[in-house]
Amino acid sequence: MFSARERKGRMQQNLKKILIVGGGTAGWMAAAACAKTLAGGGYEIDVVESDEIGTVGVGEATIPPIMEFNRTLQIDEAEFMRATQASVKLAIEFVDWTRLNHTYIHPFGQYGVPMQGIYFHHFWLRHRAEGGTMSHDEFNSCTMAARAGRFAPPMATDRSPLPPIAYAYHFDAGLYAAFLRRYAEALGVRRHEGKVVHVQLRADDGFIESVKLADGRVLAADLFVDCSGFRGLLIEEALHAGYEDWREWLPCDRAMAVPCERVAATTPFTRSTAREAGWQWRIPLQHRTGNGYVYCSEFLSDDEAASLLLTRLDGKALASPRPLRFIAGKRKEIWKKNCVALGLASGFLEPLESTSIHLVQSGIARMMHLFPSAKFDQSAIDKYNALSKREYEEVRYFLVLHYKATERDDTPFWRHCQAIKKPPVLNERWDMYASHGQLVVPPLDLFKDSSWFAVFEGQGVRPERYHPIADIPSKEELARRLNLMSSDVRKRVQAYPMHDEYIRAHWAAPPMPQKAM
Ligand SMILES: Cc1cc2nc3c(=O)[nH]c(=O)nc-3n(C[C@H](O)[C@H](O)[C@H](O)COP(=O)(O)OP(=O)(O)OC[C@H]3O[C@@H](n4cnc5c(N)ncnc54)[C@H](O)[C@@H]3O)c2cc1C
Repeated sequence: MFSARERKGRMQQNLKKILIVGGGTAGWMAAAACAKTLAGGGYEIDVVESDEIGTVGVGEATIPPIMEFNRTLQIDEAEFMRATQASVKLAIEFVDWTRLNHTYIHPFGQYGVPMQGIYFHHFWLRHRAEGGTMSHDEFNSCTMAARAGRFAPPMATDRSPLPPIAYAYHFDAGLYAAFLRRYAEALGVRRHEGKVVHVQLRADDGFIESVKLADGRVLAADLFVDCSGFRGLLIEEALHAGYEDWREWLPCDRAMAVPCERVAATTPFTRSTAREAGWQWRIPLQHRTGNGYVYCSEFLSDDEAASLLLTRLDGKALASPRPLRFIAGKRKEIWKKNCVALGLASGFLEPLESTSIHLVQSGIARMMHLFPSAKFDQSAIDKYNALSKREYEEVRYFLVLHYKATERDDTPFWRHCQAIKKPPVLNERWDMYASHGQLVVPPLDLFKDSSWFAVFEGQGVRPERYHPIADIPSKEELARRLNLMSSDVRKRVQAYPMHDEYIRAHWAAPPMPQKAM
């Protein structure tokens, strides 16, 4: 007979040692989350990173779910904002995407309030079909606050039936990783500086046994988290997980990044400007503005991209443009054997909707949810991979929408985009919206109906019809409700301070030495 302790030991073989390879945003997010979630479980968590190799150093715009991540870690918002020179992001402004000299906003947060059980946008479509002149922007607090350069977090005193303002952050990626490193080390995570030069696999099952550093140190573990960046040191170079190349839908494969001096007012939104062979980002932080040109190497050389970018900055460049290369897509198996890949090691989708850090976050949440025992149950691994694939694909559909729903055909790049074949899921969503304004977005999707509406509407996809229920209120009743909502949005936004004022009062970061930027 086994004792209760022995029986438990036979059933429950917990792993003990976790090694995170890579100390970029992904590595330190994983370390912080593991340290917090597994606290008290006797786990040993180690991170190895190489100062010589460094990090990708970009990745500064986020989306609202990051608040959940910070909340789980019980991170104080003010401390985080100051430590990372952060500003607020309420939306993305898309310039020249639909056609030249056209601008629209994709805000966080919902438009208006649903009425009679259906999405608000149907009522607005009716308003427009009947000759109404109110813009859909007037019903979204984030859009209106972004345009006015104003911000305040949701207030308990706000009694409006409108959805609360939703926001995310722009932050300095290097400072964010450093912030999380301090957090993780305070919870007992051990950091090793060194370059991994060899990955040792177990002879019997091909699982990873250990990694060897250039100075001869060997780090063994039960679970390996590959956060080594694009090359995927463990998941690809050692375990050969394979890569799905998605360039047929997302042809951009290069970026040139450069910070510049900050502008007078810090806009609470990211700007994405469509360019001749891709698009340019502009991300305002407290101490500087991040900029980059994402482009397709078939249509633009690195030198051209660098010189064009330098002529299109708001302020003086603070460094030389830094080239980055990537292939849109994802690993075929993001979790293989005893290795889970996170961040750039797991795949990459261009930062048009600022999704990469979110994919790190959701990858960590999934890993925790399906956390393995020492036995590494294959069904959990399969589930992880299936859910990750679904998430990546869903983001891909949304990104492809931006390149397809455009009138632009003024350069070889944009003509190339016109010929991109829509993935079937996108095709189906597009057809449903274009014919009768319906947005049937699965509940688990990251981008909800309001995001799809913002981009469809912003990029000129006009539905032929709207939901029949939107015809039920009388014209006068509809006008009354719409006026009420837009006036609520206006009043709410007018009560907000300017974004910079709010930051100065609550989150002002210490000045940064120029060379540390
Ligand atoms: C052009 C561009 C713009 C982006 N913009 C955004 C954005 O606005 N929003 C967003 O959410 N995301 C964005 N991203 C993505 C974001 O930058 C990454 O998802 C995020 O920084 C995570 O990177 P990482 O930690 O996976 O990789 P990295 O930052 O590359 O870190 C890799 C780590 O692995 C270590 N390493 C590598 N090899 C070895 C070795 N042999 N031995 C030891 N250590 C090793 C390195 O030292 C480093 O610490 C952008 C990415 C690019 C390329």
